[in-house]
Amino acid sequence: MSRRPPSITDATAVALAQACQVELSAEAIDRARGYLTDLVGLLETLHEVDIDEMPAYSVAEAIAGLHAPAGAAPADAAAPPMPDPPHAPDSPWFAWTAWETAAALRRGDVSAVMLAQAALTRIAAVDENVHAWLRVDAGAALATARDLDAARARGEPLGPLAGVPTGLKDNLLTVGLETTAGSRILQGWIPTEDGAHAARLRGAGAVILGKLALDEFGMGSSNENTPFEPVRNPWAPDFVPGGSSGGSAAAVAARTICFSLGSDSGGSIRQPASLCGLVGLKPTYGRVSRHGLIPVVPGLDHVGPLTRDVRDAALVLGCLAGHDPRDLNSIRAPVPDYLGAVARGRAEGIAGTRIGVHHEALAVPGLDPAVLTCFMAALAQLQAAGAQLVEVSLPHFRRAVPTYYALASAQAAHHLARVALPTGARGQAFGEEVRRRLLLGTLVLRGDGEYLERATRVQGLIVRDHAAALERCDVLASPTTRLPGFRLGERVQDPVAMYLSDIFVIGANLAGLPAMSVPAGFAPASAERPTLPVGLHLVARALGEATLLRVAAAHEARTRWHLAVAPGAAGSCDHVGADDRPLGM
Ligand code: GLN
Repeated sequence: MSRRPPSITDATAVALAQACQVELSAEAIDRARGYLTDLVGLLETLHEVDIDEMPAYSVAEAIAGLHAPAGAAPADAAAPPMPDPPHAPDSPWFAWTAWETAAALRRGDVSAVMLAQAALTRIAAVDENVHAWLRVDAGAALATARDLDAARARGEPLGPLAGVPTGLKDNLLTVGLETTAGSRILQGWIPTEDGAHAARLRGAGAVILGKLALDEFGMGSSNENTPFEPVRNPWAPDFVPGGSSGGSAAAVAARTICFSLGSDSGGSIRQPASLCGLVGLKPTYGRVSRHGLIPVVPGLDHVGPLTRDVRDAALVLGCLAGHDPRDLNSIRAPVPDYLGAVARGRAEGIAGTRIGVHHEALAVPGLDPAVLTCFMAALAQLQAAGAQLVEVSLPHFRRAVPTYYALASAQAAHHLARVALPTGARGQAFGEEVRRRLLLGTLVLRGDGEYLERATRVQGLIVRDHAAALERCDVLASPTTRLPGFRLGERVQDPVAMYLSDIFVIGANLAGLPAMSVPAGFAPASAERPTLPVGLHLVARALGEATLLRVAAAHEARTRWHLAVAPGAAGSCDHVGADDRPLGM
């Protein structure tokens, strides 16, 4: 007997809206009926999967298998020394990476106050065209910088990020600094303590300048789900920077800071990293604490860095990673020498490493030819660095998007139901996408279509697929996105198209595996679009961040894509060396 999906009428939309206390106008009811019909169509594809033998996936069980035995220490062989930064002494500070900036401070070439002031000046000059910064706290940043300079003058040891200016996605708690998650609901909320991320960065000496824009509550792939100005891509002002960590990506691509933090529940670090020509790393679930992250989808939430190169990703990850008793799902395992892995990848390459290409990736409908060309070139570089390519399969690859959206919308509806608001206020206070998730999540939680039960089992299949593929290879490779980017406004009315932006990146969230996007070339300018960056997506086994970084470093050492400067960062960037232009441009 063929299955009848739940039918969505005006009455269904109204009933769902009442259940989650969202007030909808007549016009909004009409729209809701339309998009709920499309989204139910997406979730219905979960019924094509045979789940009979598959138990529901359990995060707690997955984490339990990753704790190291008590007393275990990292068994890293000595890594080759990392050469000191080769930056020209007259290049401006914003051409430096985090590593180079910290080294310059340690040498005494610059002071922390000079760096903070320069970054603040640059934000003032550049950000009015980018809108990456929601909030800048110059006073607090300069006070931190003064303290650092004083500590240095006293000869005290400096942390690995000493003096490096940075910013955090605005869903990461910062003491004394408003934290809104990009929502009107939280406007005016000033946390009384730092989350784990701000605390660890400060402990490493970084200078937090402020907070970066995101899609409301981290729900989105374009940064357009915002009551504030949408962020613009520094590569092309009419194009989105990606989401939801779009502000974190654009702030780095516009060179207002050399690294930032983002969060990634369904691709939100890696997709914007790809669209903005950056390195974005999502660690293993539980490797970096979630304490102080306003949750998106708690079982899938990760925090990680967006940087300009792979070494900086290793540097920042090393500062963030490690057990935190305040996060119940935090893994107790030693933190390996990530910088050593980068040094090895650069110096020794990746001989013997097996790179798995799943054929489902290449069969994705609408894969842009320019993206495919960059991907093939990246594979050739990995081979030239010593890797062996193997073909693998992720049979449930296409199910990741509906699985994620069933889980994500159910959890959004569950969590946001606890936000007490005066009757009717939800309708106005939440943006359109959050309302959409509330409606869809309420439908999923009510049991219409049995999507939640199915999604947790299909997640189990996706975990199993990744485990099987990663037995045959060390790292999985694919493009990060189907297209190099899309225009502002292009997908706001089409949630299914928007959700499919994350097709390559969501699987690693569902499987809890470490993944990163690295610059892999440029889609050339055409009648439809200007030159836009393209990303290579890599996924490793649980706690395999060092493997991931080594492979990424070997690729980066053979290419110069990461040195390209976005036009939106130019102007005040004129005296950056000619070497900073992308190859072939
Ligand atoms: N685009 C996904 C969503 O809208 C991912 C969000 C995220 O990773 N925070 O839910």
